[in-house]
Amino acid sequence: MRWITDIERGRQLCLHCRKLHTLDVHVCDRCGSPVHQRIPHSIPLTWSLALAAIVFLIPANLLPMMVVQSIAGEDAGTIMDGVIYFLEHGEAGIGIVIFLASIFIPFFKLTVLFYLLLIVHFKWYARAKLGLKLFRIIHFIGKWSMLDIFVVALMVGIVQFKHLATIVTGPAAIAFMMAVLITMFATETFDPRLMFDTLIKLQEEKHSHPQGSSHD
Ligand SMILES: [Zn+2]
Repeated sequence: MRWITDIERGRQLCLHCRKLHTLDVHVCDRCGSPVHQRIPHSIPLTWSLALAAIVFLIPANLLPMMVVQSIAGEDAGTIMDGVIYFLEHGEAGIGIVIFLASIFIPFFKLTVLFYLLLIVHFKWYARAKLGLKLFRIIHFIGKWSMLDIFVVALMVGIVQFKHLATIVTGPAAIAFMMAVLITMFATETFDPRLMFDTLIKLQEEKHSHPQGSSHD
Protein backbone atom coordinates (compact mmCIF):
# COMPACT_ATOMS: atom_id res chain seq x y z
CA MET A 1 0.00 0.00 0.00
CA ARG A 2 1.25 3.47 -0.83
CA TRP A 3 0.78 6.29 1.67
CA ILE A 4 -0.54 9.61 0.38
CA THR A 5 -0.09 12.70 2.52
CA ASP A 6 -2.18 15.82 2.93
CA ILE A 7 0.64 17.80 1.30
CA GLU A 8 0.30 15.77 -1.92
CA ARG A 9 -3.49 16.16 -1.86
CA GLY A 10 -3.54 19.82 -0.76
CA ARG A 11 -5.51 19.08 2.40
CA GLN A 12 -5.01 19.77 6.11
CA LEU A 13 -6.37 17.93 9.11
CA CYS A 14 -7.84 19.47 12.26
CA LEU A 15 -5.80 17.74 14.98
CA HIS A 16 -8.57 18.38 17.48
CA CYS A 17 -11.65 16.88 15.79
CA ARG A 18 -10.01 15.14 12.79
CA LYS A 19 -12.01 17.03 10.17
CA LEU A 20 -10.22 17.36 6.83
CA HIS A 21 -10.05 20.85 5.34
CA THR A 22 -8.78 22.51 2.20
CA LEU A 23 -5.72 24.77 2.46
CA ASP A 24 -7.69 28.06 2.53
CA VAL A 25 -9.21 27.21 5.93
CA HIS A 26 -7.40 28.54 9.02
CA VAL A 27 -9.99 27.84 11.73
CA CYS A 28 -11.90 24.55 11.89
CA ASP A 29 -15.61 25.16 11.15
CA ARG A 30 -16.59 22.15 13.26
CA CYS A 31 -14.64 22.68 16.50
CA GLY A 32 -13.10 26.15 16.18
CA SER A 33 -9.49 24.97 16.58
CA PRO A 34 -6.74 26.56 14.50
CA VAL A 35 -5.88 24.34 11.52
CA HIS A 36 -2.35 23.95 10.18
CA GLN A 37 -1.00 21.52 7.63
CA ARG A 38 1.92 21.04 10.08
CA ILE A 39 2.18 22.48 13.60
CA PRO A 40 4.08 25.79 13.15
CA HIS A 41 7.70 25.73 14.39
CA SER A 42 7.13 22.17 15.60
CA ILE A 43 10.77 21.05 15.48
CA PRO A 44 12.55 24.03 17.16
CA LEU A 45 9.76 24.25 19.78
CA THR A 46 9.94 20.55 20.60
CA TRP A 47 13.76 20.65 20.80
CA SER A 48 13.67 23.64 23.18
CA LEU A 49 10.97 22.17 25.41
CA ALA A 50 12.55 18.70 25.54
CA LEU A 51 15.93 20.20 26.48
CA ALA A 52 14.28 22.42 29.12
CA ALA A 53 12.52 19.35 30.56
CA ILE A 54 15.88 17.56 30.90
CA VAL A 55 17.29 20.62 32.70
CA PHE A 56 14.49 20.32 35.28
CA LEU A 57 14.54 16.54 35.46
CA ILE A 58 18.15 16.45 36.69
CA PRO A 59 17.57 18.48 39.92
CA ALA A 60 14.22 16.68 40.27
CA ASN A 61 16.16 13.46 40.76
CA LEU A 62 19.24 14.76 42.60
CA LEU A 63 17.68 17.22 45.07
CA PRO A 64 15.50 16.17 48.04
CA MET A 65 11.88 15.46 47.12
CA MET A 66 10.78 15.27 50.75
CA VAL A 67 12.12 16.68 53.98
CA VAL A 68 10.95 14.71 57.03
CA GLN A 69 10.99 16.63 60.30
CA SER A 70 10.56 14.49 63.42
CA ILE A 71 11.79 14.43 67.04
CA ALA A 72 14.85 12.55 65.77
CA GLY A 73 15.80 15.48 63.58
CA GLU A 74 15.53 16.35 59.93
CA ASP A 75 15.93 13.88 57.12
CA ALA A 76 15.83 14.65 53.40
CA GLY A 77 15.30 12.14 50.63
CA THR A 78 15.38 12.11 46.85
CA ILE A 79 12.83 10.27 44.69
CA MET A 80 15.17 7.25 44.55
CA ASP A 81 15.52 7.30 48.36
CA GLY A 82 11.72 7.08 48.50
CA VAL A 83 11.70 4.10 46.13
CA ILE A 84 14.41 2.31 48.16
CA TYR A 85 12.59 3.14 51.40
CA PHE A 86 9.38 1.43 50.24
CA LEU A 87 11.25 -1.57 48.78
CA GLU A 88 13.10 -2.11 52.06
CA HIS A 89 9.99 -1.72 54.19
CA GLY A 90 7.98 -4.44 52.46
CA GLU A 91 5.96 -2.05 50.27
CA ALA A 92 7.39 -3.17 46.94
CA GLY A 93 4.16 -2.29 45.10
CA ILE A 94 4.28 1.37 46.14
CA GLY A 95 8.04 1.45 45.47
CA ILE A 96 7.54 0.16 41.94
CA VAL A 97 4.67 2.61 41.21
CA ILE A 98 6.81 5.53 42.38
CA PHE A 99 9.77 4.30 40.33
CA LEU A 100 7.65 3.93 37.19
CA ALA A 101 5.72 7.20 37.56
CA SER A 102 8.53 9.41 38.82
CA ILE A 103 11.69 8.06 37.22
CA PHE A 104 11.06 5.59 34.41
CA ILE A 105 8.12 7.27 32.58
CA PRO A 106 9.53 10.86 32.57
CA PHE A 107 12.89 9.63 31.24
CA PHE A 108 11.18 7.28 28.77
CA LYS A 109 8.99 10.10 27.39
CA LEU A 110 11.96 12.41 26.91
CA THR A 111 14.12 9.67 25.38
CA VAL A 112 11.34 8.94 22.85
CA LEU A 113 10.91 12.66 22.07
CA PHE A 114 14.63 13.04 21.37
CA TYR A 115 14.52 9.90 19.21
CA LEU A 116 11.57 11.31 17.20
CA LEU A 117 13.40 14.63 16.77
CA LEU A 118 16.48 12.75 15.53
CA ILE A 119 14.34 10.73 13.08
CA VAL A 120 13.11 13.98 11.53
CA HIS A 121 16.49 15.73 11.75
CA PHE A 122 18.60 12.97 10.21
CA LYS A 123 15.77 11.81 7.88
CA TRP A 124 15.96 8.24 9.19
CA TYR A 125 13.17 7.18 6.82
CA ALA A 126 13.37 3.52 7.79
CA ARG A 127 12.68 4.34 11.48
CA ALA A 128 9.62 6.53 10.85
CA LYS A 129 7.10 3.72 11.44
CA LEU A 130 8.68 2.75 14.75
CA GLY A 131 8.74 6.45 15.61
CA LEU A 132 4.99 6.70 15.01
CA LYS A 133 4.31 3.76 17.32
CA LEU A 134 6.49 5.33 20.03
CA PHE A 135 4.76 8.69 19.56
CA ARG A 136 1.36 7.07 20.09
CA ILE A 137 2.66 5.43 23.29
CA ILE A 138 4.01 8.67 24.81
CA HIS A 139 0.93 10.57 23.66
CA PHE A 140 -1.22 8.00 25.44
CA ILE A 141 0.95 8.15 28.58
CA GLY A 142 0.73 11.95 28.35
CA LYS A 143 -2.90 11.80 29.39
CA TRP A 144 -1.74 10.28 32.68
CA SER A 145 1.13 12.72 33.27
CA MET A 146 -0.54 14.22 36.29
CA LEU A 147 -0.28 10.77 37.88
CA ASP A 148 3.41 11.52 38.47
CA ILE A 149 2.53 14.52 40.62
CA PHE A 150 -0.28 12.61 42.31
CA VAL A 151 2.15 9.83 43.26
CA VAL A 152 4.42 12.35 45.01
CA ALA A 153 1.45 13.62 47.03
CA LEU A 154 0.53 10.02 47.85
CA MET A 155 4.09 9.27 48.95
CA VAL A 156 4.11 12.27 51.29
CA GLY A 157 0.77 11.16 52.71
CA ILE A 158 1.86 7.59 53.36
CA VAL A 159 5.13 8.52 55.08
CA GLN A 160 3.35 11.16 57.14
CA PHE A 161 0.76 8.66 58.27
CA LYS A 162 3.30 5.97 59.17
CA HIS A 163 5.78 8.16 61.02
CA LEU A 164 3.62 10.90 62.51
CA ALA A 165 6.30 13.26 61.34
CA THR A 166 6.04 16.59 59.58
CA ILE A 167 6.86 16.30 55.92
CA VAL A 168 7.44 19.15 53.55
CA THR A 169 8.17 18.81 49.87
CA GLY A 170 11.77 19.57 48.94
CA PRO A 171 13.08 21.66 46.03
CA ALA A 172 12.93 18.60 43.75
CA ALA A 173 9.11 18.71 43.83
CA ILE A 174 8.97 22.04 41.96
CA ALA A 175 11.64 20.88 39.49
CA PHE A 176 9.75 17.63 38.97
CA MET A 177 6.41 19.34 38.28
CA MET A 178 8.14 21.71 35.84
CA ALA A 179 9.75 18.74 34.05
CA VAL A 180 6.39 16.91 33.79
CA LEU A 181 4.52 19.98 32.49
CA ILE A 182 7.22 20.95 29.98
CA THR A 183 7.37 17.35 28.71
CA MET A 184 3.58 17.48 28.16
CA PHE A 185 3.96 20.66 26.11
CA ALA A 186 6.89 19.15 24.17
CA THR A 187 4.71 16.15 23.24
CA GLU A 188 1.94 18.52 22.08
CA THR A 189 4.26 20.67 19.93
CA PHE A 190 5.78 17.68 18.11
CA ASP A 191 3.95 17.10 14.84
CA PRO A 192 4.01 13.37 14.05
CA ARG A 193 3.01 14.14 10.46
CA LEU A 194 6.58 15.32 9.91
CA MET A 195 7.56 11.66 10.11
CA PHE A 196 4.92 10.75 7.52
CA ASP A 197 6.68 13.24 5.29
CA THR A 198 9.91 11.27 5.67
CA LEU A 199 7.98 8.02 5.11
CA ILE A 200 6.74 9.29 1.74
CA LYS A 201 10.35 9.85 0.71
CA LEU A 202 11.12 6.26 1.76
CA GLN A 203 8.30 4.99 -0.47
CA GLU A 204 9.52 7.06 -3.37
CA GLU A 205 12.97 5.52 -2.94
CA LYS A 206 11.41 2.03 -2.76
CA HIS A 207 9.32 2.83 -5.80
CA SER A 208 12.37 3.77 -7.84
CA HIS A 209 14.41 0.80 -6.48
CA PRO A 210 11.85 -2.00 -5.79
CA GLN A 211 13.13 -4.69 -3.36
CA GLY A 212 10.30 -7.12 -2.55
CA SER A 213 6.85 -6.16 -1.34
CA SER A 214 5.54 -4.72 1.91
CA HIS A 215 2.37 -5.80 3.74
CA ASP A 216 1.37 -2.32 4.81
ZN1 LIG B 1 -11.79 20.65 14.31
